[in-house]
Amino acid sequence: MSATIIDGKAVAAAVRERVRGAIAEEGLTPGLATILVGDDPASAVYVRMKREDCAQVGIGSFHHAPGGDVSSDDLAALIAQLNTDDRVDGILLQLPLPDHLDDAEMTALIDPAKDVDGLTPVNAGLLMHGREALVACTPSGVMELLGHAGVELSGANAVVVGRSQLVGKPLAALLLAANATVTHCHSRTRDLGAECRRADVIVAAAGQLNLITADMVSPGAVVIDVGTNRTDAGLRGDVDFDAVREVAGAITSVPGGVGPMTRAMLLQNTLSAARRARA
Ligand code: NDP
Repeated sequence: MSATIIDGKAVAAAVRERVRGAIAEEGLTPGLATILVGDDPASAVYVRMKREDCAQVGIGSFHHAPGGDVSSDDLAALIAQLNTDDRVDGILLQLPLPDHLDDAEMTALIDPAKDVDGLTPVNAGLLMHGREALVACTPSGVMELLGHAGVELSGANAVVVGRSQLVGKPLAALLLAANATVTHCHSRTRDLGAECRRADVIVAAAGQLNLITADMVSPGAVVIDVGTNRTDAGLRGDVDFDAVREVAGAITSVPGGVGPMTRAMLLQNTLSAARRARA
């Protein structure tokens, strides 16, 4: 029997509605500052969509677009200014930055209380310590999807493929906090297929087209595909979707799975930051 498709668009819509309702009910006026450095077309589209999402739920947005040749000192000064701006609850620095700027160095300048992408060392550390943190949007979106699909994580064998700061590492920490037994795989993993076959839950975040094939998935497993790979046929994930859906119990698609959740969780994080700023 074919797997249940976990509909990221529907879950994201529910998250957006939850955020919109909370903002209206609590009378909040959250604000998100977006910083887009340079003129990379893909980054410009992402930032535009995020600002549109904000407008839909009642989050004000403050857009800053320094030129691609902005100095690190000037960008640092802009971040410092936004850190002290009371109208701004969240700061989104769109990555990647141009080559002369260091993504990690610039991100670390964001006040952790306004770090709605959850990328500062402080928030990453709080997550590792099991303390309240602003968690990166993609991994928290994956957790929201798993929760919505009713996946029992306590005691489950979960395999995370990919160990980036942005996705793999925070996701492994979240799954561990949810009492899953977590196996963390990466490009040096000796036998990825064997690791995956033991899994009740597989999350693929490697950026490798069709890395997860049907023979790597045990019948009934839940498969979440974070990967985005551009192909002639459009955007595709890390999972061989058509074959794996015949084996898995539940699966996300690309597009339409994790992507919409990443956008929705930014709104949730901005709401959380606004609540804390006013507490
Ligand atoms: P990175 O390139 O930073 O990390 C990729 C990870 O995958 C690395 O840890 C790497 O291992 C591992 N990896 C690469 N090849 C293999 C392989 N053959 N077998 C096992 N592991 C492998 O990517 P990100 O974490 O930033 O993103 C991962 C994917 O998720 C990308 O496709 C990205 O576009 C997508 N993405 C999607 C989002 C969404 O909203 N849908 C949001 C963010 C990312 P090693 O560390 O050993 O090099």
